[in-house]
Amino acid sequence: MFVIACTTCTRRQLIFPSQVLRVDGDQVVYRCWCGSEQAWVPGSASATAA
Ligand SMILES: [Zn+2]
Repeated sequence: MFVIACTTCTRRQLIFPSQVLRVDGDQVVYRCWCGSEQAWVPGSASATAA
């Protein structure tokens, strides 16, 4: 799991592996607790909207 800042709810959320939808190239696409689909590149501090 990892902690990442969501662009929709603008909060840092703890994301569990069960929330990961897919891996798209070097991005991990996951669903935030707020329901927003987010993409995250491991190593960066924040997500982008997927
Ligand atoms: Zn969110």
